[in-house]
Order: sequence, then C-alpha cells, then structure tokens
Amino acid sequence: MSPSPRIKGWCPGAWRPMATGDGLLVRVRPPLGQLSREQVLALCDAAETFGSGLIELTSRANFQLRGVTDESWPPLMAFLVEHQLVSDDPEAERQPQLMLAPAWQMGDDTHTIARLLQARGGELAAMPGKVGIAIDAGIAPVLGDSAADFRIERSREGGLLVRADGYAQGTAVSGTDAAVEQLIRLTHWFVDSGGWESGRMRRHTAPLPDWAPADTAPASHGEKLTLGEHSGGIVVGLPFGRVAAEKLREAVFQTSARVVQVTPWRRLLLQDCDTLAAIDGLIRHNSDPRLAMDACPGAPFCEQASVATQPLAEKLSGWGETSVHISGCAKGCARRAPADVCLVGQAGRFNVVVNGGADSTPVKTGLSESEVVDFMRKFSENS
Ligand code: SF4
Repeated sequence: MSPSPRIKGWCPGAWRPMATGDGLLVRVRPPLGQLSREQVLALCDAAETFGSGLIELTSRANFQLRGVTDESWPPLMAFLVEHQLVSDDPEAERQPQLMLAPAWQMGDDTHTIARLLQARGGELAAMPGKVGIAIDAGIAPVLGDSAADFRIERSREGGLLVRADGYAQGTAVSGTDAAVEQLIRLTHWFVDSGGWESGRMRRHTAPLPDWAPADTAPASHGEKLTLGEHSGGIVVGLPFGRVAAEKLREAVFQTSARVVQVTPWRRLLLQDCDTLAAIDGLIRHNSDPRLAMDACPGAPFCEQASVATQPLAEKLSGWGETSVHISGCAKGCARRAPADVCLVGQAGRFNVVVNGGADSTPVKTGLSESEVVDFMRKFSENS
C-alpha cells in the first residue's frame, strides 16, 4: 500500500481558501448546482483577474479557482459576493454540501427537497467539513459513484428513501417533507454516535438506529449525462475537470444558454441551447479518450503531489478501453471507484495498481514516466 497522504479533515471553501502548490485554491459551490449565464461569465472574469485563469470542476460538482494570492483574495471575495457566487456569511459555507442530480427540473422531487433543505439547513447537525448530502430523487439514482455521506434516492417501488453511505439499502419515507425530516434526524444520530471521530459515514461503525432500518432497495442506477445534445440543452466535458476561463466564456457566448448546470462528472449542461461549435479545451464527443481517464491536479498544483499527472494523462489517452486513474498521491481525489489501472505518485515516481484505487496495494512500485508508458502499452495489448 502507498504511504498515507495527509488528511486535512476539512474542505476548502471561498472563505477558507486552501494553500496549494500554485497559490490559494478558492472553491465556489453553485447553489442548487447551477449558475446563471451572468454568473458563469463573472466566474470567468474572476479567474482571470484574481487567479491564474484556470477553472476546475470537482467530483462534487463545485468550481475551483486556482492561483489566487494573499493580495488578490480580498478583492476576489468582494467580487464573488457581489455576483452572488458566494454568500456574504462565512458560516453558510460550513453547512454540508448539497449535490443535486443534474438535469433536475423546477418543482420535481430533487428540486423540492433541495429547497426544503436550504430552508431547514440550520436544523442539520454540525458535522465534519467533508460530509456531503446527495439529493438524487429523479426516476433513477445517478449519483451512486459520487461521494456523499447521506443520500435521498428513488426506491425500486417508486417512492423515496434516505440512505446512509456504506449501506446498500435505505429507509423508505412517505414524501419530500418526510425525507428531509429523516435526513435531519440521521445527521443528529451520526454526530451523537461519534460522527466527529469517524469523520465520514462510510467509516462510521455505530449500528443504524431502529427508526432507520435500511431495508428498502434503491432503484437501479440511471445513466450519467452523455455529451452532446440533451433534452435540456448541450452537455460538454472538461478534460480532467479543467478549462481555461477564456474557453468557458467562449462556449457561453456562442450559445443562448441562460443557465449552466454542473455535474460531478466533469461535465456541464448548457441549458436551453441546441448548437455549439467545437471549442478547443472542451470535450464534445462521447468517444473522446480523455473521458476514460481521471487525473487529479498533481504537481505543481497540489503540495501533496511529487509527480505531474495531467501531462501523463494526455499522453496515455486513447490507449484502448482501459480506464486509467492518475493520482498525485494515495489520497485519490480524482476518482472514488476502482479503475483498471491506477498510477499513484510517490517520491517522484509511480506505483501501479491494477483493478483498484489510489490506496490499494500496487503490483509495481517506483516506475519512471517512460516505464509507466511501457507498462501501459503492454497492458493495453493484453487486455
Ligand atoms: S490525489 Fe492529487 S489532488 Fe489529491 S491530495 Fe493527492 S496529489 Fe493532491
């Protein structure tokens, strides 16, 4: 197993930026998982004016601005608050992250639950900073591969259920109000039974209470949004979760999209538009080999990384159907699910994991980049 990364136990936000290898990282949580056209354009301006011009989309469907400095952070915050990209109340950021199933519609269960939770957010227990909530109440759950500690999902019978991470089944509830009530109750049980010590629900060993029997199966998983035309607009991909602000601005300018919806799959839904020309820096086709790759920012962007990840990801793209995860360290930020091959940085070289994640036991250790390329060539030929 690769050496453990430093677990900080808190998530950066806008009011609590994190120092990284290329300056401060400022995270922006789009309310209800979407931004207006004007807000996206403001975000692009903010990235260029106060940061490095790079925008990231995280696996929890947040935007990140990189390369912010101690000097540029105060005016950046004033700008973000002015454009309602960040609340002027730093405490608002301490509430658990809500991740909504993308492509929700106004008034559907996902939207209704999110609004109820926004109104009752103060009733949730105060939980560790990394705890997140998925509101996944469409026809079928689609956020199963995305990190969340508590989920509200559709059951096989068509009702709603509340499920704790680590459990295959959840507890049926009688509607949206009951789902929110059950969720609030569950967060208090989590904290009262030692949640601050375990940090995350999947590591929490206390048995669920009697009133949360976890005896109802969720519906079979639905498909994530594919790239291209969609009933709600056009879906585009960000290579390895990154885009230059100028490219995102160009995409928005090219379309009539009034709203941009974020996803945890490094894809954006440009709502209510039907044409978009090819833009260098955005993925337009489902056959793009970069979609099979996950790579974290790596060096020099992350202080915990000793290897550059994204140039290697570009180099390895297109080698067959193999899913590849390139991780700057054993923390594995870019991908939660196992990959066919996971390349993990350690002391400037790579360890190789087959059918696993960044913290799994490697089959090879200490490879140079060219040795990794050789390994991948042989692996692709044999698989
Ligand atoms: S996985 Fe990548 S982004 Fe996450 S801490 Fe390690 S090097 Fe940094």
